[in-house]
Amino acid sequence: AEHSQGRVDRKSAAAFEEAKRYIPGGVNSPVRAFKSVGLTPAFIERGSGSRVYDIDGNAFIDYVGSWGPLIVGHAHPEVVEAIKRTAEKGTSFGAPTELETAMAKLVCERVPSIEVVRMVNSGTEATMSALRLARGYTGRHKILKFEGCYHGHADSLLIKAGSGVATLGLPDSPGVPEGVAVNTITVPYNDLESVKLAFEKFGEEIAAVIVEPIAGNMGVVPPLPGFLQGLRDVTSRYGSLLIFDEVMTGFRVGFHCAQGLFGITPDLTCLGKVIGGGLPVGAYGGRRDIMERMAPSGPIYQAGTLSGNPLAMAAGYTTLKLLERPGLYEELERKSARLEEGFLRNAKELGVESTINRVGSMVCPFFTATKVVNYETAKTSDLARFGRYFGALLDLGVSVAPSQFEGMFVSAAHTDEDIETTIGAHYEALKRSAV
Ligand code: PMP
Repeated sequence: AEHSQGRVDRKSAAAFEEAKRYIPGGVNSPVRAFKSVGLTPAFIERGSGSRVYDIDGNAFIDYVGSWGPLIVGHAHPEVVEAIKRTAEKGTSFGAPTELETAMAKLVCERVPSIEVVRMVNSGTEATMSALRLARGYTGRHKILKFEGCYHGHADSLLIKAGSGVATLGLPDSPGVPEGVAVNTITVPYNDLESVKLAFEKFGEEIAAVIVEPIAGNMGVVPPLPGFLQGLRDVTSRYGSLLIFDEVMTGFRVGFHCAQGLFGITPDLTCLGKVIGGGLPVGAYGGRRDIMERMAPSGPIYQAGTLSGNPLAMAAGYTTLKLLERPGLYEELERKSARLEEGFLRNAKELGVESTINRVGSMVCPFFTATKVVNYETAKTSDLARFGRYFGALLDLGVSVAPSQFEGMFVSAAHTDEDIETTIGAHYEALKRSAV
């Protein structure tokens, strides 16, 4: 690709060299380094609405959205104002504040399965804590997860994971003790038969099934009809908990999250991304009788110096309130459908093998003719072509995640004009990415 090595990106290239002197790989989260696509990352100076701007002065229509949180766009004036107003009164107290209750109340009102909720600082903390709770509550050790699902980087969950782990081809990270790994059972996504077999064998030992109700870390993969209900049924039958990891889908695919969309009630739900409005937040919640097993009401321990942080609560609360705007999710659906249709039209016109998976504003074009229903089929995508396509898109002023195993996030800030421009860039990038 022409991008990133030439004239326009001199400053980013220098900044990356400097960063590598002090930060491992030059980044604080692996996929940001653009390693798998063989490019130098653009260093970002600022964002506004649907756009990000790099330090070389390039503007991009952005579909990364900080990897999901920015559903109302970059630097939304009301979110920024809420953070400023809150910061003036102090940034952290380590004591309860009313804002935390307001936030918890909002989450409880909107997420069908959540009766009580605890705030943490990342999606990783949310899933890690939910697992500890599930194990503590059931007195069992094993968990079941799905290949290609990513639930953050806690030891138990870093097994056959998606996202950056899939992108970099590191399915079983060194540093995860075997004694931990043996307690994680993995089966293919959307494969209820394998789940049932696992339960026939280990059912009495399985504390929980954890699942992305819409997978977003092997690219976007929706659940097949009956899959989530099947998980609900089998976990109930064996006395295991069903944990929905809605870190990505929570408030992204609808006001009542994926569980509201599909009408399935998990025992525990993990949240993150959108509920933090771009600040570091995660949360886990669910049935009161289970959640009250956490300290201080119960014996299972989890804590955090900065948990429920005022700035994070202000940004998250304001973002969730903005999502109440009538027609917001309908608009996201309409714009995202238009993007999908445009992509399909382009691929057809140019004769490019393509499968596009989409749920609401999570959009994911794969370079394959195969229907993508799990990690195996996601991997049939032409990854080398994805890399060239990604670089071409950047050259054309469109920023997507530098990995086939991630989706695009449409935000309320994307205009119809942005969508049309993106469809045009996609057409050109498809052409340029042909060998
Ligand atoms: N669960 C899911 C479904 C995610 O998509 C992610 C992050 N992409 C996580 C958990 C981990 O969240 P965090 O990066 O905030 O730790």
